[in-house]
Amino acid sequence: MLADKLNLVKKNIEEACDTAGRSPQEVTLIAVSKTKPVEMLKEAYDAGARVFGENKVQEILDKYDQMPSDVQWHMIGHLQRNKVKYIIDKVSMVHSVDSVRLAEAIEKEAAKKDICMPVLIEVNVAGEESKFGLSVEEVLPFLEEISSYEHLQVKGLMTIAPFVANPEENREVFQKLKKLSVDIAAKNINNVNMSVLSMGMTNDYQVAVEEGATMVRVGTGIFGERDYSIKED
Ligand SMILES: *Cc1c(COP(=O)(O)O)cnc(C)c1O
Repeated sequence: MLADKLNLVKKNIEEACDTAGRSPQEVTLIAVSKTKPVEMLKEAYDAGARVFGENKVQEILDKYDQMPSDVQWHMIGHLQRNKVKYIIDKVSMVHSVDSVRLAEAIEKEAAKKDICMPVLIEVNVAGEESKFGLSVEEVLPFLEEISSYEHLQVKGLMTIAPFVANPEENREVFQKLKKLSVDIAAKNINNVNMSVLSMGMTNDYQVAVEEGATMVRVGTGIFGERDYSIKED
């Protein structure tokens, strides 16, 4: 049952919080529903999930109207500049800002709707070639460059850790992202706040929570394996 899986994930988050001496209220569970049908999202909703993560603009648009209005949508995937306008007033956070041009597009579209979009900066902590995101060294100059934008509010950092057999292997990645966020917070950059750390997925969210994650993005652990043979585009 989906509800059982969701509750197990919540329980594991609570245990990790316990281990780290943190309060479970500090951690938001994002139910990553990409490729999954709306019926499953509704099941998760009925079991208490309110924050959903998706990585494709079209999929957010399709699901948006079919789900209750108190759902919060988080855009966690790579976002193309020309698609920002379709989701700017539908998502409550964009986790994947990694270029000035994308930040500019968000600033422009958010200004049109008179909103301020909360965003996270995606950091490729492990330096994997296949992944999007800024390198650790690029983050500070990037933030200084976009700090004058008024319709975008930087809330923190996000990383996608490598796929590893043992989640302990990613502990160092999470520690590095945490350290980066502490270092940046100390700089007191205008319009930049470091309250959110989005890190940890099905394979490693407990370790991420132990290392300070305030948002974990769990898909498979709640909805089961994804079948890309029918959905990938
Ligand atoms: C798919 C995805 C997740 C969820 O991955 P699982 O391993 O299924 O938990 C988390 N974050 C991002 C950015 C994703 O694209």
